[in-house]
Amino acid sequence: MRRAEESLLNHSSQTASSFVLLAPFTGPVVPLADVPDPVFAEGMFGDGIGIDPLDGVLVAPCDGTITHLARTNHAVTLRTAEGAEILLHIGIDTVELGGKGFTPKIEQGATVRAGQALIEFDADFVARHAPSLVSVIAVANSDAFEVVERAGRGVLRAGEGRLLVLRAKDGAKADAARSDANFTDEARRNVTLAHAGGLHARPAARAREAARGFDAKVEVRFEGRKAPIESVVGLLSLGAGEGATIELLGIGAQASQAVEAVANELLRAAHGEVEETPARAKSPAPVPATPPSGRPLDPNTLAGVCASPGIAVGTLVRWDDQEITPPEQASGSSSAESHALDRAITAIDAELDETVRTASQRGAVGEAGIFAVHRVLLEDPTLVDAARDLISLGKSAGFAWREAIRAQIALLSKIEDALLAERAADLRDIEKRVLRALGYKNTSARELPDEAVLAADEFTPSDLSSLDRTRVTALVMARGGATSHAAIIARQIGIPALVAVGDALHAVPEGTQVVVDASAGRLEHAPTALDVERARFERQRLAGVREANRRTSQQAATTSDGRAIEVAANIATLDDARTAVENGADSVGLLRTELLFIHRASAPTKDEHKDSYQGIVDALKGRTAIIRTLDVGADKEVDYLTLPPETNPALGLRGIRLAQVRPDLLDDQLRGLIAVQPFGTVRILLPMVTDSGELVRLRKRIDELAREIGRTDAIEVGVMIEVPSAALLADQLAQHADFLSIGTNDLTQYTLAMDRCQPDLAAQSDGLHPAVLRLIKAAVQGAAKHGKWVGVCGALGGDPVAVPLLVGLGVTELSVDPVSVPGIKARVRNLDYPLCRQRAEDALALESAQAVRAASREIWPLD
Ligand code: PEP
Ligand code: MG
Repeated sequence: MRRAEESLLNHSSQTASSFVLLAPFTGPVVPLADVPDPVFAEGMFGDGIGIDPLDGVLVAPCDGTITHLARTNHAVTLRTAEGAEILLHIGIDTVELGGKGFTPKIEQGATVRAGQALIEFDADFVARHAPSLVSVIAVANSDAFEVVERAGRGVLRAGEGRLLVLRAKDGAKADAARSDANFTDEARRNVTLAHAGGLHARPAARAREAARGFDAKVEVRFEGRKAPIESVVGLLSLGAGEGATIELLGIGAQASQAVEAVANELLRAAHGEVEETPARAKSPAPVPATPPSGRPLDPNTLAGVCASPGIAVGTLVRWDDQEITPPEQASGSSSAESHALDRAITAIDAELDETVRTASQRGAVGEAGIFAVHRVLLEDPTLVDAARDLISLGKSAGFAWREAIRAQIALLSKIEDALLAERAADLRDIEKRVLRALGYKNTSARELPDEAVLAADEFTPSDLSSLDRTRVTALVMARGGATSHAAIIARQIGIPALVAVGDALHAVPEGTQVVVDASAGRLEHAPTALDVERARFERQRLAGVREANRRTSQQAATTSDGRAIEVAANIATLDDARTAVENGADSVGLLRTELLFIHRASAPTKDEHKDSYQGIVDALKGRTAIIRTLDVGADKEVDYLTLPPETNPALGLRGIRLAQVRPDLLDDQLRGLIAVQPFGTVRILLPMVTDSGELVRLRKRIDELAREIGRTDAIEVGVMIEVPSAALLADQLAQHADFLSIGTNDLTQYTLAMDRCQPDLAAQSDGLHPAVLRLIKAAVQGAAKHGKWVGVCGALGGDPVAVPLLVGLGVTELSVDPVSVPGIKARVRNLDYPLCRQRAEDALALESAQAVRAASREIWPLD
């Protein structure tokens, strides 16, 4: 008897519930850990053993049924009478051989006897073309069956030598018997991360979602590290930055589909992604630490990077949490601690869900995205499993959670990638939240003085969402960047913020009076009385101008010579509609409906559309609303609609083109729109129209739907002028449209061929470029031929430098952010239309956007 057999038999403790697998190959036994592929060696396919085959036959290791034969015939799964799923895999990476060299002797579904030949293979060919011929026998459902004995090293004969003894774990037989799983398919694919930031939080979370629902395990590998796709934290810790090539590895019945879905998602992220990259794009350009003048900083001044503009005077308050240090040892049983952790996580998850919902309703897309990522981190198996392991060793829930998070933070902080390292702040945030939910000290209840300038090493988003905004005048951070989530939130809530001030910030004592000029990137920590006075004066002056503008904001805006300009609001939610009315908007010039429904899991129904618009129209108290049909695609994604990946999404199925693939979605929306009462308060706006064919078709559809509900009055329909073709064909469009609304954000992008989300082009991608202005002029002239009016609803309409030129080009409506309405009305009142016309004409002849800006500032200085 051979040595391996002896060792197995001598130590055999076979019982009624255990059963034997014979060697399926003739050859020497290889311990699993020595199999030359980490996927097998680390047990990803399940526990088992290897054999290095000496000949070319794979036989059944016991009686059973063939539940799966790999497409490429290099592996089979056999189910034993006990329900164990045994994977028999010939060689390493042999899926790559595409079936060459393998001849199956059975079919899927066959009943086989121990020792029966299953696959014959050309051992020489496989050995020459695959990395190794070492083959694996693995228990795919190792959660249900355990290996109780295994053969030692030595040569076994196929169908004779006893290789493994297996035993069902408790209750496993029944479960396993029901299982249809097979694990023999595997898929590998390399993906190069082309998107900014690489595998950071949002793409990682989306990749995880893409893999969900497939019957396959997916693992991501990079430079010797690996992480399961379910663990966003693990994926971040890989440190795969922009340009990195990662390997996706799938195992399971739907391995290829899962790997494809993940790869597509990652490739899609490269073409516009909704969280970090756009936030970077929209963030103000970091102000250099040394002012451009080169003037050295005063001794009492620290330099930082502007994360949110503005100026403030106040008292420095240290916001840094004192370390929360939960006791290491548990006071109760492990199961009580585990339940306490579950409860805390569930409570925080509900809290975050609510935050995401309300932020989405306010249209605060960035903020909603941040907390959505926190929800994903909160349920990350890497964190939760690590915490549970510690709890099972007798540690308290708080200690275990904190340790699990700290271990991941330590990994992230080793990565030399600012964007990824910033996610450490998100982990610190969920650490604090969960510790608070477990009953540890809660700093958010802290009393603040009036005019508090909060200082911290780095704020977490939840610090900001819970702080008393009426008392905080500015935020300063030693670390962080303009792309950090805290910075995004500071901008959204309009608090001046300075980041990356450095450790010198910690040396400024609590209670010091400081001047924070975030716009200039400076913190003065021992300001002279004159400095304070100047800063207060500037702050007050700006507040005074705002107040004066507010007082007249409810009146119509006409130029000094009497030309009426409607100043409308761009809105996304019901709250915005109320803000618009308070700020004196004459109407709503653009309701971006895609933002209203952005985080819904399913498309809104006709009634949901109608109810949302009706609420907004009611809040507008008689003002009209221009409501744009769904504009998704490119940089705008909605959760309920996964668009097919496109190489060039900005030039793909965007805006109204979506109706070509999902006419049902548009029909529901149009039905909702035309049902809003009173009729006539809603004007319908169509995005991304290219020529009049699309407009005519949709107009016809709107009329049909109106007739269905017995509406006979004329429904006003306008088109967005967002692409050069629409501007050039404005006369044709205006023949069928009631008005034109210029989307300068996209018109600039498509005219200058500069991605609106590309941070490096942000300074050049300026709507005041003479080429864009000429297209605006063409649009106005085209509309005038048919007596139609033209508005501007892109960001240029709210830019005080652009307003005189737009008015001069003949635009009669400007639709701007609700809070900007009073300022823009005031600007219009100071204009003289003939002068605007003349200077706008001159601007068309200038050579650059900078030249146009400079000319406008000179003629019409800003406040
Ligand atoms: C625009 O493109 O200018 C516009 C108003 O539309 P959005 O910014 O929603 O694409
Ligand atoms: Mg647009």
